[in-house]
Amino acid sequence: MLKEKYVCVSCQTHFNTIPQRWRCQCGSPLNLAWEKPKFSKEHIRHDLSGMWRYANALPFHPNDSVWEEITMGEGHTPLVPLSKEDPHTFVKVDYMMPTLSFKDRGAAVLIAKAKEWGVKKVVADSSGNAGTSIAAYAKRARIDCDIFLGAGTSPKKVAQIKAHGAHIRMVNGTREDVAKAAQMAVQQEDTFYASHVFNPYFFEGTKTYAYEIWEQINKVPDTLIIPVGNGTLLLGVYQGFCELMAQGLTPTLPKIIAVQAENCAPLAQAFHQQRIEIETVQNRGTIAEGIAIAAPARSKQILQAIKETNGYIVTANEQEIIEAHTALAAKGFYVEPTTAANYVAYMKHQKTEQELIVLPLCGSGLKTERS
Ligand SMILES: *Cc1c(COP(=O)(O)O)cnc(C)c1O
Ligand SMILES: [Zn+2]
Repeated sequence: MLKEKYVCVSCQTHFNTIPQRWRCQCGSPLNLAWEKPKFSKEHIRHDLSGMWRYANALPFHPNDSVWEEITMGEGHTPLVPLSKEDPHTFVKVDYMMPTLSFKDRGAAVLIAKAKEWGVKKVVADSSGNAGTSIAAYAKRARIDCDIFLGAGTSPKKVAQIKAHGAHIRMVNGTREDVAKAAQMAVQQEDTFYASHVFNPYFFEGTKTYAYEIWEQINKVPDTLIIPVGNGTLLLGVYQGFCELMAQGLTPTLPKIIAVQAENCAPLAQAFHQQRIEIETVQNRGTIAEGIAIAAPARSKQILQAIKETNGYIVTANEQEIIEAHTALAAKGFYVEPTTAANYVAYMKHQKTEQELIVLPLCGSGLKTERS
Protein backbone atom coordinates (compact mmCIF):
# COMPACT_ATOMS: atom_id res chain seq x y z
CA MET A 1 0.00 0.00 0.00
CA LEU A 2 1.07 3.56 -0.61
CA LYS A 3 -0.36 4.71 2.72
CA GLU A 4 -1.35 8.10 1.35
CA LYS A 5 -2.37 10.76 3.87
CA TYR A 6 -3.54 14.32 3.60
CA VAL A 7 -1.60 16.68 5.85
CA CYS A 8 -2.78 20.21 6.59
CA VAL A 9 -0.22 22.81 5.48
CA SER A 10 -1.00 24.98 8.53
CA CYS A 11 -1.83 22.80 11.55
CA GLN A 12 -0.37 19.49 10.30
CA THR A 13 -3.55 17.53 11.07
CA HIS A 14 -3.64 14.21 9.18
CA PHE A 15 -6.64 12.91 7.25
CA ASN A 16 -7.40 9.85 5.21
CA THR A 17 -7.43 10.49 1.49
CA ILE A 18 -11.15 10.25 0.89
CA PRO A 19 -12.97 11.98 -1.98
CA GLN A 20 -15.03 14.24 0.29
CA ARG A 21 -12.03 15.82 2.01
CA TRP A 22 -10.62 18.85 0.18
CA ARG A 23 -9.36 21.06 2.99
CA CYS A 24 -8.57 20.95 6.69
CA GLN A 25 -11.16 21.83 9.31
CA CYS A 26 -8.99 24.93 9.93
CA GLY A 27 -9.69 25.93 6.32
CA SER A 28 -6.16 25.46 4.99
CA PRO A 29 -5.20 23.39 1.95
CA LEU A 30 -3.81 19.88 2.29
CA ASN A 31 -0.59 18.31 1.09
CA LEU A 32 -0.22 14.67 0.15
CA ALA A 33 2.17 12.51 2.16
CA TRP A 34 3.01 8.98 1.11
CA GLU A 35 5.85 6.53 1.29
CA LYS A 36 7.80 7.24 -1.84
CA PRO A 37 9.43 4.17 -3.32
CA LYS A 38 13.03 4.30 -4.49
CA PHE A 39 13.26 6.11 -7.81
CA SER A 40 16.21 6.47 -10.18
CA LYS A 41 16.98 6.48 -13.91
CA GLU A 42 16.35 2.72 -14.01
CA HIS A 43 12.76 3.27 -12.90
CA ILE A 44 11.86 5.40 -15.90
CA ARG A 45 9.23 3.56 -17.93
CA HIS A 46 10.44 3.98 -21.51
CA ASP A 47 7.51 1.88 -22.69
CA LEU A 48 4.97 4.52 -21.59
CA SER A 49 4.13 7.84 -23.25
CA GLY A 50 4.49 11.32 -21.89
CA MET A 51 4.86 12.03 -18.21
CA TRP A 52 3.81 8.46 -17.37
CA ARG A 53 7.40 7.43 -17.96
CA TYR A 54 7.64 8.55 -14.29
CA ALA A 55 4.68 6.42 -13.23
CA ASN A 56 6.90 4.83 -10.59
CA ALA A 57 7.17 8.22 -8.88
CA LEU A 58 3.42 8.88 -8.97
CA PRO A 59 0.88 7.90 -6.29
CA PHE A 60 -0.62 4.91 -8.03
CA HIS A 61 -0.33 1.34 -6.99
CA PRO A 62 1.71 -0.69 -9.54
CA ASN A 63 -1.35 -2.83 -10.26
CA ASP A 64 -3.63 0.19 -10.71
CA SER A 65 -4.08 0.93 -14.35
CA VAL A 66 -7.09 3.26 -14.31
CA TRP A 67 -4.82 6.08 -15.51
CA GLU A 68 -4.00 4.09 -18.66
CA GLU A 69 -7.62 4.54 -19.81
CA ILE A 70 -7.44 8.26 -19.16
CA THR A 71 -4.02 9.46 -20.32
CA MET A 72 -3.80 11.26 -23.65
CA GLY A 73 -0.01 11.16 -23.72
CA GLU A 74 0.38 14.47 -21.86
CA GLY A 75 3.85 15.55 -20.84
CA HIS A 76 7.39 14.80 -21.96
CA THR A 77 7.27 18.11 -23.80
CA PRO A 78 10.19 19.45 -25.84
CA LEU A 79 12.98 21.35 -24.11
CA VAL A 80 14.68 23.47 -26.74
CA PRO A 81 17.04 26.48 -26.82
CA LEU A 82 15.19 29.79 -26.86
CA SER A 83 17.27 30.89 -29.83
CA LYS A 84 20.76 30.66 -31.28
CA GLU A 85 21.76 33.79 -29.37
CA ASP A 86 20.75 32.29 -26.01
CA PRO A 87 22.32 28.82 -25.99
CA HIS A 88 21.99 28.43 -22.21
CA THR A 89 18.32 29.39 -22.08
CA PHE A 90 15.77 26.68 -22.76
CA VAL A 91 12.06 26.87 -23.25
CA LYS A 92 9.91 23.95 -22.22
CA VAL A 93 7.10 23.83 -24.74
CA ASP A 94 4.36 22.87 -22.33
CA TYR A 95 1.56 24.06 -24.59
CA MET A 96 2.20 20.90 -26.60
CA MET A 97 -0.41 19.11 -24.54
CA PRO A 98 -3.78 17.51 -25.35
CA THR A 99 -5.73 20.63 -24.27
CA LEU A 100 -2.91 23.08 -25.10
CA SER A 101 -1.78 23.98 -21.58
CA PHE A 102 0.39 22.48 -18.84
CA LYS A 103 -2.72 21.88 -16.70
CA ASP A 104 -3.07 18.48 -18.38
CA ARG A 105 -0.22 17.19 -16.21
CA GLY A 106 -2.27 17.79 -13.08
CA ALA A 107 -5.69 16.98 -14.49
CA ALA A 108 -4.58 13.56 -15.78
CA VAL A 109 -3.42 12.50 -12.30
CA LEU A 110 -6.33 14.07 -10.44
CA ILE A 111 -9.03 12.61 -12.67
CA ALA A 112 -7.33 9.20 -12.73
CA LYS A 113 -7.47 9.24 -8.93
CA ALA A 114 -11.12 10.35 -8.94
CA LYS A 115 -11.94 7.49 -11.31
CA GLU A 116 -10.05 5.02 -9.12
CA TRP A 117 -12.20 6.23 -6.20
CA GLY A 118 -15.40 5.69 -8.19
CA VAL A 119 -16.32 9.39 -8.34
CA LYS A 120 -19.33 10.00 -10.60
CA LYS A 121 -19.27 13.78 -10.82
CA VAL A 122 -16.65 16.50 -10.38
CA VAL A 123 -16.89 20.25 -9.84
CA ALA A 124 -14.10 22.72 -10.52
CA ASP A 125 -13.56 26.47 -10.85
CA SER A 126 -11.05 28.03 -13.15
CA SER A 127 -9.93 31.08 -15.09
CA GLY A 128 -10.05 28.80 -18.14
CA ASN A 129 -7.22 26.37 -18.72
CA ALA A 130 -7.62 24.22 -15.61
CA GLY A 131 -11.33 23.97 -16.36
CA THR A 132 -10.56 22.88 -19.91
CA SER A 133 -8.20 20.17 -18.70
CA ILE A 134 -10.53 18.88 -16.00
CA ALA A 135 -13.44 18.86 -18.48
CA ALA A 136 -11.47 16.92 -21.09
CA TYR A 137 -10.13 14.26 -18.75
CA ALA A 138 -13.43 13.92 -16.87
CA LYS A 139 -15.24 13.28 -20.15
CA ARG A 140 -12.64 10.73 -21.17
CA ALA A 141 -13.11 9.04 -17.78
CA ARG A 142 -16.91 9.15 -18.21
CA ILE A 143 -17.33 11.37 -15.16
CA ASP A 144 -19.88 14.21 -15.17
CA CYS A 145 -18.35 17.64 -14.83
CA ASP A 146 -19.46 21.14 -13.82
CA ILE A 147 -17.02 23.99 -14.40
CA PHE A 148 -17.51 27.35 -12.66
CA LEU A 149 -16.18 30.28 -14.67
CA GLY A 150 -16.12 34.05 -14.38
CA ALA A 151 -18.16 36.03 -16.88
CA GLY A 152 -14.97 37.42 -18.48
CA THR A 153 -13.43 34.05 -19.38
CA SER A 154 -11.85 33.89 -22.85
CA PRO A 155 -14.54 32.70 -25.30
CA LYS A 156 -12.20 30.14 -26.85
CA LYS A 157 -11.58 28.52 -23.48
CA VAL A 158 -15.33 28.46 -22.81
CA ALA A 159 -15.90 26.84 -26.21
CA GLN A 160 -13.23 24.23 -25.47
CA ILE A 161 -14.85 23.36 -22.12
CA LYS A 162 -18.29 23.13 -23.75
CA ALA A 163 -16.95 20.87 -26.48
CA HIS A 164 -15.94 18.39 -23.80
CA GLY A 165 -19.51 18.23 -22.60
CA ALA A 166 -19.00 19.94 -19.25
CA HIS A 167 -21.82 21.91 -17.72
CA ILE A 168 -20.70 25.55 -17.52
CA ARG A 169 -21.83 27.61 -14.55
CA MET A 170 -21.11 31.31 -15.08
CA VAL A 171 -20.57 33.50 -12.06
CA ASN A 172 -20.62 37.28 -12.04
CA GLY A 173 -17.88 38.50 -9.75
CA THR A 174 -14.22 38.12 -8.99
CA ARG A 175 -12.14 34.96 -9.46
CA GLU A 176 -12.57 34.45 -5.69
CA ASP A 177 -16.36 34.64 -6.04
CA VAL A 178 -16.16 31.94 -8.73
CA ALA A 179 -14.20 29.67 -6.39
CA LYS A 180 -16.64 30.30 -3.54
CA ALA A 181 -19.60 29.42 -5.76
CA ALA A 182 -17.94 26.15 -6.75
CA GLN A 183 -17.13 25.30 -3.13
CA MET A 184 -20.72 26.02 -2.14
CA ALA A 185 -21.98 23.70 -4.87
CA VAL A 186 -19.56 20.97 -3.75
CA GLN A 187 -20.98 21.22 -0.25
CA GLN A 188 -24.65 21.44 -1.23
CA GLU A 189 -24.56 18.82 -3.96
CA ASP A 190 -22.10 16.52 -2.16
CA THR A 191 -19.86 16.17 -5.20
CA PHE A 192 -16.11 15.85 -5.70
CA TYR A 193 -14.12 19.08 -5.79
CA ALA A 194 -11.62 18.59 -8.62
CA SER A 195 -9.75 21.73 -7.62
CA HIS A 196 -6.32 22.28 -9.14
CA VAL A 197 -5.60 24.59 -6.23
CA PHE A 198 -6.76 22.50 -3.27
CA ASN A 199 -6.42 18.91 -4.41
CA PRO A 200 -2.79 17.83 -3.88
CA TYR A 201 -3.02 15.05 -6.47
CA PHE A 202 -2.92 17.82 -9.07
CA PHE A 203 0.59 18.73 -7.90
CA GLU A 204 1.70 15.11 -8.27
CA GLY A 205 1.06 15.70 -11.96
CA THR A 206 2.74 19.09 -12.28
CA LYS A 207 5.84 17.79 -10.51
CA THR A 208 6.65 15.78 -13.64
CA TYR A 209 7.80 19.07 -15.19
CA ALA A 210 10.81 18.80 -12.86
CA TYR A 211 11.42 15.11 -13.58
CA GLU A 212 11.43 15.81 -17.30
CA ILE A 213 13.97 18.62 -17.06
CA TRP A 214 16.19 16.42 -14.90
CA GLU A 215 16.06 13.66 -17.50
CA GLN A 216 16.26 15.93 -20.56
CA ILE A 217 19.33 17.95 -19.59
CA ASN A 218 20.70 15.49 -17.08
CA LYS A 219 21.37 18.20 -14.48
CA VAL A 220 19.66 20.82 -12.37
CA PRO A 221 19.17 24.13 -14.16
CA ASP A 222 20.52 27.16 -12.31
CA THR A 223 17.27 29.02 -12.69
CA LEU A 224 13.64 28.28 -13.42
CA ILE A 225 11.24 31.00 -14.42
CA ILE A 226 7.72 30.08 -13.35
CA PRO A 227 4.45 32.03 -13.74
CA VAL A 228 2.43 32.13 -10.57
CA GLY A 229 -1.24 32.68 -9.95
CA ASN A 230 -2.32 29.83 -7.70
CA GLY A 231 1.11 28.22 -7.85
CA THR A 232 0.14 24.83 -9.26
CA LEU A 233 3.16 24.69 -11.56
CA LEU A 234 5.48 26.39 -9.08
CA LEU A 235 4.65 24.13 -6.14
CA GLY A 236 4.62 21.00 -8.28
CA VAL A 237 8.02 21.83 -9.74
CA TYR A 238 9.40 22.65 -6.30
CA GLN A 239 8.06 19.35 -4.96
CA GLY A 240 9.53 17.51 -7.95
CA PHE A 241 13.03 18.89 -7.43
CA CYS A 242 12.80 18.26 -3.67
CA GLU A 243 11.93 14.63 -4.40
CA LEU A 244 14.81 14.24 -6.85
CA MET A 245 17.14 15.64 -4.22
CA ALA A 246 15.73 13.35 -1.52
CA GLN A 247 16.32 10.40 -3.85
CA GLY A 248 19.96 11.49 -4.19
CA LEU A 249 19.52 12.17 -7.91
CA THR A 250 20.30 15.90 -7.84
CA PRO A 251 22.59 17.90 -5.55
CA THR A 252 20.75 21.24 -5.38
CA LEU A 253 17.48 23.02 -6.01
CA PRO A 254 17.21 25.42 -8.94
CA LYS A 255 16.55 29.06 -8.13
CA ILE A 256 12.89 29.84 -8.77
CA ILE A 257 12.01 33.20 -10.25
CA ALA A 258 8.26 33.65 -10.10
CA VAL A 259 6.41 36.10 -12.29
CA GLN A 260 3.10 37.87 -11.69
CA ALA A 261 1.20 40.48 -13.64
CA GLU A 262 1.81 43.92 -12.14
CA ASN A 263 -1.96 44.51 -12.12
CA CYS A 264 -2.60 41.49 -9.89
CA ALA A 265 0.46 40.73 -7.79
CA PRO A 266 -0.35 39.75 -4.21
CA LEU A 267 2.64 37.41 -3.95
CA ALA A 268 5.11 39.91 -5.40
CA GLN A 269 3.82 42.52 -2.99
CA ALA A 270 4.18 40.24 0.04
CA PHE A 271 7.63 39.13 -1.10
CA HIS A 272 8.91 42.66 -1.49
CA GLN A 273 7.47 43.71 1.85
CA GLN A 274 9.06 40.62 3.41
CA ARG A 275 5.76 39.27 4.67
CA ILE A 276 5.12 35.55 4.92
CA GLU A 277 1.46 35.99 4.08
CA ILE A 278 -0.34 37.89 1.38
CA GLU A 279 -2.89 40.61 1.68
CA THR A 280 -5.68 40.17 -0.84
CA VAL A 281 -5.26 42.66 -3.65
CA GLN A 282 -7.73 43.94 -6.19
CA ASN A 283 -7.24 42.56 -9.69
CA ARG A 284 -6.83 45.74 -11.77
CA GLY A 285 -7.23 43.77 -14.99
CA THR A 286 -4.55 42.06 -17.07
CA ILE A 287 -4.27 40.22 -20.36
CA ALA A 288 -2.27 37.64 -18.38
CA GLU A 289 -5.61 36.15 -17.33
CA GLY A 290 -4.08 32.79 -16.32
CA ILE A 291 -2.13 34.32 -13.44
CA ALA A 292 -4.68 36.91 -12.27
CA ILE A 293 -5.31 35.47 -8.81
CA ALA A 294 -5.90 38.07 -6.10
CA ALA A 295 -5.89 35.68 -3.12
CA PRO A 296 -4.02 32.43 -3.85
CA ALA A 297 -4.96 29.78 -1.26
CA ARG A 298 -1.44 28.35 -1.08
CA SER A 299 0.34 31.70 -0.83
CA LYS A 300 2.40 30.83 2.27
CA GLN A 301 3.76 27.68 0.65
CA ILE A 302 4.56 29.56 -2.55
CA LEU A 303 6.46 32.32 -0.75
CA GLN A 304 8.35 29.75 1.29
CA ALA A 305 9.35 27.71 -1.77
CA ILE A 306 10.69 30.77 -3.58
CA LYS A 307 12.71 31.82 -0.52
CA GLU A 308 14.08 28.35 0.00
CA THR A 309 15.54 28.34 -3.50
CA ASN A 310 17.02 31.85 -3.09
CA GLY A 311 14.64 33.00 -5.76
CA TYR A 312 12.55 36.11 -6.12
CA ILE A 313 9.33 37.42 -7.67
CA VAL A 314 9.14 39.88 -10.51
CA THR A 315 6.16 41.61 -12.11
CA ALA A 316 5.29 42.28 -15.72
CA ASN A 317 3.17 45.22 -16.83
CA GLU A 318 0.67 45.15 -19.69
CA GLN A 319 2.92 46.85 -22.22
CA GLU A 320 5.81 44.52 -21.43
CA ILE A 321 3.53 41.49 -21.80
CA ILE A 322 2.30 42.65 -25.20
CA GLU A 323 5.86 43.22 -26.42
CA ALA A 324 6.99 39.84 -25.08
CA HIS A 325 4.11 38.16 -26.90
CA THR A 326 5.36 39.62 -30.16
CA ALA A 327 8.98 38.76 -29.35
CA LEU A 328 8.16 35.11 -28.69
CA ALA A 329 6.12 34.85 -31.89
CA ALA A 330 9.16 36.23 -33.74
CA LYS A 331 11.13 33.27 -32.39
CA GLY A 332 8.45 30.84 -33.57
CA PHE A 333 6.47 30.40 -30.38
CA TYR A 334 2.79 31.36 -30.45
CA VAL A 335 1.69 31.58 -26.84
CA GLU A 336 -1.17 33.05 -24.88
CA PRO A 337 -0.48 36.43 -23.22
CA THR A 338 -0.16 34.84 -19.77
CA THR A 339 2.86 32.93 -21.04
CA ALA A 340 4.41 36.09 -22.49
CA ALA A 341 4.82 37.30 -18.89
CA ASN A 342 7.38 34.52 -18.41
CA TYR A 343 9.50 36.05 -21.14
CA VAL A 344 9.27 39.45 -19.47
CA ALA A 345 10.73 37.89 -16.31
CA TYR A 346 13.50 36.35 -18.38
CA MET A 347 14.35 39.68 -20.02
CA LYS A 348 14.47 41.41 -16.64
CA HIS A 349 16.67 38.78 -15.02
CA GLN A 350 20.34 39.76 -14.70
CA LYS A 351 21.76 36.48 -15.89
CA THR A 352 25.36 35.43 -15.65
CA GLU A 353 27.40 34.22 -18.62
CA GLN A 354 26.81 30.46 -18.26
CA GLU A 355 23.55 30.52 -16.31
CA LEU A 356 21.32 27.64 -17.36
CA ILE A 357 17.76 28.93 -17.42
CA VAL A 358 14.49 27.16 -18.24
CA LEU A 359 11.25 29.01 -18.90
CA PRO A 360 7.95 27.32 -19.65
CA LEU A 361 5.60 28.07 -22.51
CA CYS A 362 2.46 27.14 -20.59
CA GLY A 363 -0.44 27.96 -22.88
CA SER A 364 -1.06 28.10 -26.62
CA GLY A 365 -1.83 31.37 -28.38
CA LEU A 366 -4.88 29.74 -29.93
CA LYS A 367 -6.62 29.88 -26.54
CA THR A 368 -7.21 33.63 -26.58
CA GLU A 369 -8.41 36.28 -29.03
CA ARG A 370 -5.21 38.33 -29.12
CA SER A 371 -3.29 37.97 -32.34
C1 LIG B 1 -2.77 28.08 -14.98
C2 LIG B 1 -1.81 28.83 -15.81
C3 LIG B 1 -0.77 29.58 -15.24
C4 LIG B 1 -0.59 29.77 -13.78
O1 LIG B 1 -0.65 28.65 -13.01
P1 LIG B 1 -1.03 28.73 -11.47
O2 LIG B 1 -1.25 27.38 -11.06
O3 LIG B 1 -2.27 29.56 -11.33
O4 LIG B 1 0.12 29.39 -10.77
C5 LIG B 1 0.13 30.19 -16.09
N1 LIG B 1 0.01 30.11 -17.43
C6 LIG B 1 -0.98 29.42 -18.01
C7 LIG B 1 -1.05 29.37 -19.49
C8 LIG B 1 -1.92 28.76 -17.23
O5 LIG B 1 -2.90 28.06 -17.80
ZN1 LIG C 1 -5.38 22.65 9.49
